[in-house]
Amino acid sequence: MLLETAAAPPARRGLSVRTRGLVHVYRGEGRDVAALAGVDLSVRAGEMVALLGPSGAGKSTLLSLLAGLFRPTAGSVLVGDLDLTKAAQPELDRLHASGVSLMLQGAARNLLPFLTAEENIAFAQHAARRAAGGDAHLPGAPELLGTVGLADVGREPLSSFTPGQLQLVTLAVVLATAPGLLLADEPTSRLDHGARELVLAALARVNQQLGTTVVLVTHDADVARWVPRTVTIRDGRIGGEGRAGEEYAVVTADGFLPLPGHALELLAPGTLVRFELEDGVYHLRVEADGEQTGKQDGVDES
Ligand code: ADP
Ligand code: MG
Repeated sequence: MLLETAAAPPARRGLSVRTRGLVHVYRGEGRDVAALAGVDLSVRAGEMVALLGPSGAGKSTLLSLLAGLFRPTAGSVLVGDLDLTKAAQPELDRLHASGVSLMLQGAARNLLPFLTAEENIAFAQHAARRAAGGDAHLPGAPELLGTVGLADVGREPLSSFTPGQLQLVTLAVVLATAPGLLLADEPTSRLDHGARELVLAALARVNQQLGTTVVLVTHDADVARWVPRTVTIRDGRIGGEGRAGEEYAVVTADGFLPLPGHALELLAPGTLVRFELEDGVYHLRVEADGEQTGKQDGVDES
């Protein structure tokens, strides 16, 4: 009996992410900027997470460190089993060629404008094949463009594309190397409502159908409709997490609990608080001027 074996499909397992105590300081002339001040972030393989936060909070710095573009001032970054802060250059090169893809902010920074979508994909795959010694099994351009909802326009000049279509081409290009981790910096900025929906839907489809771990940065208020988990970055730290529309504060690895803004009105800096366990429920007891003002809040112990 003759057995015909098709070429093995590309392995597209999602890669996990884990940072611990991540600190990054940009050294400037006479002025240092602490962009990240101790970030502990864990993302499971195959998960999709949106990073939210005001401008200057450190979101792009965090994405760059997850992509291994430069080394942090302190702390560790694990992508899969690889500690990016200790990896040698050849390991980082391999990771960039086929493990991690970064969509920079603004489609123009990711695309060669004088080439078609198919040619942009081929260009991205050329480097990946070279890094893998020529035998990488990578998805074809029609499959990639189909995944992002842009079948049939692969050979048209990019000059005829709308901003939303260009962002979808960018997504197809960064997927061309079959990454296990896709990082996207503001992929919906400067797009109209309809285009934003298409890009977020395409990212969610990539996550669900290919199993790619997706971490995106966005200002999009209704991103929670597409992303089950949001992480808010504030002043270089994780300021909170959202799960299915509910906001939570997150205890850091070193035991700190960043308070959300509205809680600071009740618990001003310097307030003394005590946690008391009563019938399986934690109560936060506030000490004011030496007198207890009573229970402020109760949370389930679980
Ligand atoms: P976000 O993406 O959330 O807007 P960034 O990570 O770009 O935040 O920036 C965080 C902080 O680091 C800001 O104060 C910013 O001005 C500063 N920063 C970012 N990149 C550089 C750089 N290359 N050199 C010096 N400072 C920088
Ligand atoms: Mg940014």
